[in-house]
Amino acid sequence: MGKSAYKNMWAYIEHDGARAMDVGLELCCELRRLCDRSGDKLLAVVVGSLPDGELQRVKDCGVDGLILVNRDERMEYNTEAYTEIFARLANKYRPSAIFVGGTANGRDFAPRCAVRINTGCTSDAIELEYDEATGDIRFIEPAVGGKIMAVITIPELRPQIGTIRPGTFRYSPAGAREKVKVIDERIELDPASIRSRTLSFAPDSAGPELNIADSEVVVCVGNGLKSADGLDIYRELAALLGGKLGCTRPLVDREILPYRLQIGQSGVMIKPRLYVCFGVSGAVNHTAGVSADTFVAVNRDPQAQIFNYCDYGIVGDMDEVCREMIRQLKARKAQ
Ligand SMILES: Cc1cc2nc3c(=O)[nH]c(=O)nc-3n(C[C@H](O)[C@H](O)[C@H](O)COP(=O)(O)OP(=O)(O)OC[C@H]3O[C@@H](n4cnc5c(N)ncnc54)[C@H](O)[C@@H]3O)c2cc1C
Repeated sequence: MGKSAYKNMWAYIEHDGARAMDVGLELCCELRRLCDRSGDKLLAVVVGSLPDGELQRVKDCGVDGLILVNRDERMEYNTEAYTEIFARLANKYRPSAIFVGGTANGRDFAPRCAVRINTGCTSDAIELEYDEATGDIRFIEPAVGGKIMAVITIPELRPQIGTIRPGTFRYSPAGAREKVKVIDERIELDPASIRSRTLSFAPDSAGPELNIADSEVVVCVGNGLKSADGLDIYRELAALLGGKLGCTRPLVDREILPYRLQIGQSGVMIKPRLYVCFGVSGAVNHTAGVSADTFVAVNRDPQAQIFNYCDYGIVGDMDEVCREMIRQLKARKAQ
């Protein structure tokens, strides 16, 4: 079957039965833009029951329709069930593209579904474009250690499946459309096909200081840090600015800070109002995770790549500059 037989883009809305996760809404907001260019309809797929107020939040992101699967049932995530549900839906409706939040669950079922329906799946794109000449989605992501941006397409097979990390796109609802089509789907699964089950569930117990994704101010420490002993001044600066501490990957590799604080392509995506980084070289794997209103960089190397990304650059020793910032902030607060 040719590509032209496949139409419309889908966003998977992951939820816990009470609330839709941000990533699905972020996807809808971004896909609205793509669908306006491609002429496709944007449909949000919700599996299991979700309160009307939450469905309204999905509609507010500008979707043309909702596909509600088993809407009166509590449908806990299950690898085989979700793979089967999406494979059946894709075979029935033939969407051109399916976008799934790159959460633990999304990254689990999306590639399995792709294999099941004989198509391709890409992961972790940080930009999406619609190619009018070919009708393909261009999934853009850092590659070769961040030295190049790779453009990945699925030129022959459909649907195009992609997982996108939470926080990659902005949540900026376009408003609900006048008419939103609601498709009710009932999918019965053969119990014999379900081979995995949840044995127990432990909610995320990380302290608030480890949740940096929504922080308005982030102070990031890079590999320029000599040792863990030097971290205190950066923590102090973050506290004075009312923000949180984050880091680059080498600090996680050096076991100085936990993975939860790693900012970038394979870490957390952040969108703070203010981002101040110290001793960070500016590899695209890191900067891809930062979308800040104001970006400040401190590095002793005037040629450092990071200075191509920042609004304000300071050439100097990171510890000295940090101490001076603390001194000046304290002086201001004392006034
Ligand atoms: C697939 C893949 C995914 C990745 N994902 C991520 C990711 O999510 N997040 C991430 O951060 N990285 C990621 N990386 C790694 C990334 O490519 C870089 O290696 C990393 O971001 C570099 O971290 P850095 O800038 O802190 O360290 P470095 O590149 O070592 O830079 C240290 C900088 O500190 C400066 N410096 C040193 N001493 C001082 C001083 N006293 N004062 C001031 N400046 C000083 C130096 O001039 C240098 O510019 C990924 C890599 C790959 C291949």
